[in-house]
Amino acid sequence: MYQIIGTWKMSLDGIREAAELLGKGGCAGDAAEHAIVRVEDNPGYTSVGYGGLPDRDGHVMTDCAFMDGSRLRAGAAMSVENVANPIRLARKLCGRDTNWLLAGRGAEQAAVAFGLPMKDMRTEASMKKWQAERANIPERLTAYTGHDTVCVLALDDQGGMVAGTSTSGLFLKEPGRVGDSPVIGSGFYCDARFGAAAATGLGEDIMRGCLSYEIVSLMRRGASPTEACGEALRFLSSRKVELGEDEGSISVIALNPRGETGAATTLEIFPFAVGGPQGAGLRAVGKDAPRPRQVTEAEMEEQP
Ligand code: ASP
Repeated sequence: MYQIIGTWKMSLDGIREAAELLGKGGCAGDAAEHAIVRVEDNPGYTSVGYGGLPDRDGHVMTDCAFMDGSRLRAGAAMSVENVANPIRLARKLCGRDTNWLLAGRGAEQAAVAFGLPMKDMRTEASMKKWQAERANIPERLTAYTGHDTVCVLALDDQGGMVAGTSTSGLFLKEPGRVGDSPVIGSGFYCDARFGAAAATGLGEDIMRGCLSYEIVSLMRRGASPTEACGEALRFLSSRKVELGEDEGSISVIALNPRGETGAATTLEIFPFAVGGPQGAGLRAVGKDAPRPRQVTEAEMEEQP
């Protein structure tokens, strides 16, 4: 039973194609990589890959991860500049015994050694936006509306399961700032025996709850993906509220070895794409509507 799920409407086209790959017997790793590359290559998506919005100093710094749940191995890179497809770098690093989590210059050198294409990730549009807004950096950065991490979880017919993430992080972030996306257990986790999970939203908050590992742990104890996402997110949000903070801007997705998917969010609406033998389409959950539902045409238009 193959199945694939990706965050935000931006993942829909790639998820559709990746589901077709899985339907032809393709492996989960190839499917997830394909879906993420589709988003990284599109300059219209300003929070991932080419055209991603820069940090405070005008550099597009990306974070990425790939985890192979059959082998319980991960690869990840953070604060990486000029690597055309960060997800390909994370996948190459996955499987190493050591040196599988690299930062900055070392990660870029590894990409070159792997023969991966390098590319100036800035676009005219992204630099124009940076020029316009760099003088007014808010004291508290937030995950900006509709622009977030692409996270993909995939299961293939052989029982292979992977998780992948890719992001340029927060617009105008402090140089060197790293979010949850390359941090194992926070932005992603995958154990093919129990399931996979990934998160998008304010990384600083997601890491405080080690959310993805928590979701997979709940599935290990018998929760469905929807229950596990809901419980883990409710717990972290309620702890934040107890501490006098807001509940945060966080959304999560999950997949189990039976091909069941789930999601949860603290937002009014969180769209995500799902693909499998039944076809591919956009679904959504809301903070007051935890059951995944189809997205209407009108809502689809509004989503970035
Ligand atoms: N989680 C990412 C980060 O904090 C951004 C996002 O998903 O909105 O870098």
